[in-house]
Amino acid sequence: MIPCRSGKLDRFARSDWCGDRHRGTACRCAAVGAAGSCCRRLLLPVAVLAATIAGCNDGTAGNGTDNSTPADRGNDPRLRIVCTVGMVADIVRRVAGERGDVVSLMGEGVDPHLYKPTRNDVRTLLSADVVFYNGLLLEGRMTDVLTQVARRGVPVYAVTEGIPRDRLREPPEFQGHYDPHVWMDVSLWKLAMQFAAERLAELDPTAASDYRRRATEYAVQLDRLDAYVRRVIGSIPARQRYLVTAHDAFGYFSLAYDIPVRSVQGITTESEAGVDDVVRLVDFIVQRRIPAVFVESSVNPKTVEAIVAGAARRGWTVRIGGTLFSDAMGPRGTYEGTYVGMIDHNATTIARALGGEAPQRGLNGRLSLIRERSSAERGANASNGGSIGNRTAR
Ligand SMILES: [Zn+2]
Repeated sequence: MIPCRSGKLDRFARSDWCGDRHRGTACRCAAVGAAGSCCRRLLLPVAVLAATIAGCNDGTAGNGTDNSTPADRGNDPRLRIVCTVGMVADIVRRVAGERGDVVSLMGEGVDPHLYKPTRNDVRTLLSADVVFYNGLLLEGRMTDVLTQVARRGVPVYAVTEGIPRDRLREPPEFQGHYDPHVWMDVSLWKLAMQFAAERLAELDPTAASDYRRRATEYAVQLDRLDAYVRRVIGSIPARQRYLVTAHDAFGYFSLAYDIPVRSVQGITTESEAGVDDVVRLVDFIVQRRIPAVFVESSVNPKTVEAIVAGAARRGWTVRIGGTLFSDAMGPRGTYEGTYVGMIDHNATTIARALGGEAPQRGLNGRLSLIRERSSAERGANASNGGSIGNRTAR
C-alpha cells in the first residue's frame, strides 16, 4: 500500500482502505486533504452521507448548478463534470470540449475560503462522473464533503496535483500549508489544465487524443497570456510597482511577474484585518507614494477603503485602482468570466492604475469592466505631485 501523504489517514478507520495500488506515485488521499478518496469500494449509504453533511447549508444557492441525477440524464453521452470554483471549471471546460457537461458550484463573487456546500451541491457532486477542485485547502469547508463523495465512488481530483511541490509557495504565515492561489501564475495553471486533461483521457480513453489536442491548443493561449502579463506588469515604473490588495491572493502573481505585494488580510479571508495591519499599510503607501490600491470581487472592500481614508488623513491621495478578480472570476457569459479574461483584466487593471503601459481593452481587445479614471481622480493625482497623472489617463 502506498502511504497517505496528507498525514490525515487517522481520520478514517484503517479498514476503510481498499488496499488498491493507485496510478502514479502517490495516494490520491492527499488530493482531498484527507484520507479516503482512494477507497472507492466502500460505498456509504446515502443516509450516512446525509448525516455527514448535516453541517451543510440548507439553501439551494448552488449558483446555477444543475442537480439532475444520472437517471435524469438519459442517454447523454457526455461526461458529467462538476467543479468547485470557476477557474477550475473553465480550464476543464476548455479541455473537455463537447465531450463534457461542466458545472461549477461557486459562481461570480463567491469566496471559496468561506463557502459551505449546500445540499443541492452534494447531490450535484454525487451525480458527477468526475469532480475537479483546486485543493491546497482553498475549499477548506468542502473537504469533508469531497472526501465523502470520493468514498461513494466518484473520482475526485485536485488540479493542483499537477503542479510540482517545489513550485508551490509555503510562506511561514501560512502555518505549514501551501498557498492555494496558484491560478495567479499562468504557467502553473497551465500545468493544472494539463493534469485535468490527462485525468479526462484516462476516464474516457476513446477520446484521449481529443482531450490532449485541446489541451495543447489552450496551452498556446495561456503562453500568450503569460507573456502579456509579464510585459504589462514589467512596464510599471519600478518605484511604484507595488500591489496592495485586500487579502493575500497574489503571492504567485508577485513571484511570477516581479511585483511585490502587500495585503491587508492573510492567506484566507476568515480572519479580519486588525487596526495595526491597516496602519502598517498606510505607512507603506505614504512613504512610497503608491498611487493606487485594489479591491477584490470576492472580498469585502471595507479594509481597503480604510487604507484609502488613512492615507488621505496623512495627506496622500491613493485611489482605488479597480476591482481585481482574486478567488472568483467575473460574471458568467462575459470575457471576464473566463480564466483568460480574469487574468487579462487583473494585469491590465494593475498596470494601468500604477502607471504602466497596457491597452485599455487588454490582451484580446475584449475587456469591458475596466473603468475610466474620472477627472476628479486625475486631479487628485495632480495634487499629489502629478507623477502618474498623464500616464494612466490613456
Ligand atoms: Zn483567497
